[in-house]
Amino acid sequence: MRNARWRCLLAVVHYCTVGPMCLVAMLLVASLSAQNEPLRVIAFGAHPDDCDLGAGGVAAKYAALGHKVKFVSLTNGDAGHQTQGGEELAKRRRSEAHEAGRRIGIEYEVLDNHDGQLMPTLEVREQVIRKIRQWRADVVIAPRPNDYHPDHRYTGVLVQDASYMVIVPNLVKDVPALPRNPVFLYYSDHFKRPQPFRADIVVSIDDVFEKKIDMLDAHVSQFYEWLPWTVGKLDQVPKDVVERKKWLTEQPNAARKSLPEWHDALEKRYGAQAFGIQHVEAFEITEYGRQPSEEEIRKLFPFFPDKGAHP
Ligand SMILES: [Zn+2]
Repeated sequence: MRNARWRCLLAVVHYCTVGPMCLVAMLLVASLSAQNEPLRVIAFGAHPDDCDLGAGGVAAKYAALGHKVKFVSLTNGDAGHQTQGGEELAKRRRSEAHEAGRRIGIEYEVLDNHDGQLMPTLEVREQVIRKIRQWRADVVIAPRPNDYHPDHRYTGVLVQDASYMVIVPNLVKDVPALPRNPVFLYYSDHFKRPQPFRADIVVSIDDVFEKKIDMLDAHVSQFYEWLPWTVGKLDQVPKDVVERKKWLTEQPNAARKSLPEWHDALEKRYGAQAFGIQHVEAFEITEYGRQPSEEEIRKLFPFFPDKGAHP
């Protein structure tokens, strides 16, 4: 009994002297390691090259800082070519996507759903929920559900339908639910109805523009064959590999110059530097994920000059 009391007293003394200090040290270590944890970003596209166009530049920037980025194509791209198709094309596009990811240091996964036939089914929604949870995403990027291409539209719907569900433990029980909802973003687009894209976050990609072009250049079947063919410009693509890459940098979809209506969002975070920025990627914050404060936006996009550092 006496020994037990002594042990109890010693435990109290131990807690009051060493305990609080240890606790402070542990909290400090935990908060420092949380600060050093890499950000985890996952982007969805309908086809193997969609994510690259919308977020290849920011992905290269994240990767260069040691953050983790994954691109996921919901279809295997087996319809996007004028002379090839089926399994042969799917194989080619999968290897182009892997090469594109390798060139900027990110992961690239191509799912086996058929191109041109994507539907917003429960099965594909669950595939999306799994990918977001497995990646333990802080940020999720996807197209808006308004677009000329049904696969793009349904990719937007599928990711929209997965937001919130990623935190519901009773669904898709084979992968643990996320403890909190990620921030969900849309890529920029030019569609006006029912409402136009709103640029909430605009990032300069001038410093990685060549890396982005290098990434796009890996999708030979698309940027040098299929897409020029769809607009009757196949004969304008140079045959030489160096010349065609130069030609690619001049294509508006690849170049992504900043638009006048995006300037306010650019200036908000770059100050006067905004006037010198050429190539950008812009994003809209969706209403369905976590709503980040300005402070959190700056943490999730660690690319902007320090507040107050710009005039
Ligand atoms: Zn596409």
